[in-house]
Amino acid sequence: MNKDIKEALIKIVGQQNFTDLLIDLVSYSYDASDHDHRPDWAVWPTNAEQVSLILNMADKRRFPVIPRGAGTGLAGAAVPVRGGLVLDMCRMNRLIEIRIADRLAVVQPGVVYDDLQKALAPYGFFFPPDPASGKVCTIGGNVATNAGGIRGAKYGVTRDYVLGLEVVLPGGRIMRTGSQCMKSVSGYDLARLFVGSEGTLGVVTEIILKINPKPTAIKTSLARFTSLKDAGQAVTDIMHSGIIPSVLEVLDDNTIKVLREHANMDLPDAMAIILVETDGYTETEASVQMDKITEIFNENRATHIRTAESVEEAEELWLARRSAGSVAAQLRTNNVSEDVAVPISKVPHLLTGISTIVHNYHLPFVIFGHAGDGNLHPKVMYDSSDPDQVKRAGKAVDEIFRLTCELGGTLTGEHGIGLSKAPYMTLEHDPVEMDVMRKIKEIFDPNNILNPGKMGLDVM
Ligand SMILES: Cc1cc2nc3c(=O)[nH]c(=O)nc-3n(C[C@H](O)[C@H](O)[C@H](O)COP(=O)(O)OP(=O)(O)OC[C@H]3O[C@@H](n4cnc5c(N)ncnc54)[C@H](O)[C@@H]3O)c2cc1C
Repeated sequence: MNKDIKEALIKIVGQQNFTDLLIDLVSYSYDASDHDHRPDWAVWPTNAEQVSLILNMADKRRFPVIPRGAGTGLAGAAVPVRGGLVLDMCRMNRLIEIRIADRLAVVQPGVVYDDLQKALAPYGFFFPPDPASGKVCTIGGNVATNAGGIRGAKYGVTRDYVLGLEVVLPGGRIMRTGSQCMKSVSGYDLARLFVGSEGTLGVVTEIILKINPKPTAIKTSLARFTSLKDAGQAVTDIMHSGIIPSVLEVLDDNTIKVLREHANMDLPDAMAIILVETDGYTETEASVQMDKITEIFNENRATHIRTAESVEEAEELWLARRSAGSVAAQLRTNNVSEDVAVPISKVPHLLTGISTIVHNYHLPFVIFGHAGDGNLHPKVMYDSSDPDQVKRAGKAVDEIFRLTCELGGTLTGEHGIGLSKAPYMTLEHDPVEMDVMRKIKEIFDPNNILNPGKMGLDVM
């Protein structure tokens, strides 16, 4: 069956860039979420023209095409839920140029996040979004998910850095959109429409990114609080103080307990820990900001404040935050890790609300995340071999989404909608907005061949 499609694909990309081996197809049935579904074929295109020919054929023959970066997505967005062809973009991984004078870098989508950072480092520049998966995830994946990270409150997310794109549209037309300028208001902002579109509108084949000069001085502090309210107030006060820290992370009491009991970390009882970093281009700049933050911690009754005096000490302070997710994940065989976000002033409400919800379902959980931009990561642990635990975890997550939306928040601050959150899209987006989103999808992809079944745009 479909032997002619296989032959045509091989003709386009070459035998060496095609596979329908079971072992490959099984690998391509997953990303980093719990979803899985096997594709029929996978290819590694090496240029935009090949992608164009493939999308032209897919549109005519009506088979699904699923673009894929490194498969680190946490929402099932790269899972080929209706079979079809996986377009693995990892062989389009050329760093085309770095133009410091123009403050930009031009890359192919398969470039790994950390490789771009390494290439920018000698110039004293960086690409700030900083996803924790940076060692493996691709810039194409970052663009398609609008990836963010720990420095979001100060530096924003991928969308803030995408100046222009080359995109292959369903049907095969190749479009260049956006510009190479720091500023442009010429026409609709189509480039940014593709950012966060999760491979549902087009396949990104080239990216023009704005880059930033890298701060050379950093100060790191950690503060403990015996009251969640005080910690929440400290966050609000910091964000009102005129200082924007480069990192402002919170760990809840459960996370502290789990780290103490399961990673032998020497952490005293506290209701919350806040990890904060300031940066600048001189030591004084970073220190002045940190002094102000320390004042705010004291005003809000922090019981202990420690400021790192060296890089090694800073690493020690980071240890709890860096270990939180992986240590908690050991408590059960499975976990759901969400990334809901609320307006900053609602962070304390979200923290206490999530605790109450998950306590009621008697499952282990931790909450940590980016307090500085209101983006929290509640992680609920369960055992997938126990149907009752699976059901309780599902209900807890359902309630977390509802609470988040009631607080004026959003289902996802950085991981995307994919399959995991597709059923909840209408909770956040009203019928008019859903209708406009579906019409946009129809304009770009009238035959729904590109990554179908994602983002709640069509019925499964
Ligand atoms: C340990 C871990 C930590 C993580 N930490 C973070 C974090 O801090 N912040 C964060 O935002 N995310 C994080 N993630 C999630 C994930 O790494 C990001 O969503 C990342 O941007 C996905 O990149 P990828 O290359 O793996 O894309 P994939 O997972 O392969 O694909 C993701 C989506 O992008 C689409 N896509 C990929 N390439 C293209 C292309 N060229 N054109 C069109 N569509 C394309 C796919 O179809 C899919 O919809 C983490 C994941 C893990 C496993």
